[in-house]
Amino acid sequence: MMATAVLITLLFTTIYLVVYNTVFSHLDSDLDAESVEVHRNLVILNDRFVITNSDEWMEKEHRQIEVNPTFVQIVDIKGSLIKKTGNLLYGKLKFYPAFKNKTFFDGMLSGAPIRQAQIPIQNPSGLTLGYLIIAIPLEESALVLRNLRNVLFVAIPLVLIFLYFITKFIAGKSISPINTVISTAEKITKENIDERIELPLHKDELYTLTYTINNLLDRLQDAVLREKQFTSDASHELRTPLAVIKGTLEVLIRKPRSTEQYEAKIKYCISEVNRMANLVEQLLMLARYESGKIQPHTQKLNIAETLEKIILRMQHQINAKRIPVSFENKTPIFANADPAMLEIILENIISNSIKYSEEGKAIEITLKNENGKAVCIIRDCGIGIEKEEIEKIFDRFYRVEESHSSLISGNGLGLAIVKRLSDLQKLFLNVESRPGEGTTFSIYFNG
Ligand code: ADP
Repeated sequence: MMATAVLITLLFTTIYLVVYNTVFSHLDSDLDAESVEVHRNLVILNDRFVITNSDEWMEKEHRQIEVNPTFVQIVDIKGSLIKKTGNLLYGKLKFYPAFKNKTFFDGMLSGAPIRQAQIPIQNPSGLTLGYLIIAIPLEESALVLRNLRNVLFVAIPLVLIFLYFITKFIAGKSISPINTVISTAEKITKENIDERIELPLHKDELYTLTYTINNLLDRLQDAVLREKQFTSDASHELRTPLAVIKGTLEVLIRKPRSTEQYEAKIKYCISEVNRMANLVEQLLMLARYESGKIQPHTQKLNIAETLEKIILRMQHQINAKRIPVSFENKTPIFANADPAMLEIILENIISNSIKYSEEGKAIEITLKNENGKAVCIIRDCGIGIEKEEIEKIFDRFYRVEESHSSLISGNGLGLAIVKRLSDLQKLFLNVESRPGEGTTFSIYFNG
């Protein structure tokens, strides 16, 4: 509105100035034409001039003052009147001795505004012999200009007020879809996160904005659902061992039992408590790493050394299933990783390879440099994973084919932790698997 106000004022001022200049240049050219006419009736000698055609002085516009009068007056160089037209009656056009050359200016005659020209009458050698003073009334032109100025003065605020309402109306109309987006977005909370904002009809920027917000809501809804699922899975996983322990203990105290029976049941309860403790520990670990508060302390590590340490630590599990683990590393391979986090990653992957392999099936661990970066490959000949399941195994609490896996202990958190820790350290994980043939986990270090 401010810019429009300035522009309109500029435009109207220009219009006024153009009209003003046109009016005055028109008046001045009229005065000029009249001066040529009068000059034609002057005979100029060396030191004086003579007015020849007196008829010209008797023309209507020189006699009357009502219709388009033109006042003409001739004075000598001192300003003394020599001749004037009849319409001047008793009046006299003012002579300005200072105006030696042809000059146009505004003046007054009997209280009325006039446009006046003072033109020297010169002999051929340029000597001024007198002055021709011509004037025409300015009243009509001044009236036109005054009216124009008044109209423009009134028009500026009127146009601005009109523009203000028009702009407000149009802006309001174009903003209303945005208001709809805002009000719908404001209403969406965690409870009704499945609601979406209606897409506008035209595929403009607003459409893209709405589409993007809807996509964002999709992702948020996904995250909220996963969060809910996680909570219900976690409580389910904790409730089951608790119910088992409670049931076992209740049955146990119903009547006196033999020492062996007590021992067996208590051992069973301890194993369930251990399972719970393990689950709680993993949940806490996941929560800690997902909170983003723990950052990896990466350092150059001898990966071969870390692997050897883990294989040694898992010897009991390996021996129990009589699994031949091949890991021969001649040259030490270094990579950037957080030692504690890397141990958790390798331990979980190797432990899965043992868990999901039948007795006696080999596990092959390879460590190599690929394009200057370390890669660790853990290959087993276990039960394998279906293609469509592979991307889900990193989800929290996800276990492939519950019935199948339930024979093997686990809670589906191990690989979720592996994924989180790999992401934190910017390690790339790749899984290839064929059901019945085996699974290969590759860890690509980033430097
Ligand atoms: P779990 O406690 O069940 O082992 P994980 O998160 O470690 O949980 O693994 C998720 C699922 O991925 C497992 O339940 C299993 O079905 C599958 N899985 C992981 N590693 C292997 C493997 N080496 N061979 C076959 N299946 C595997």
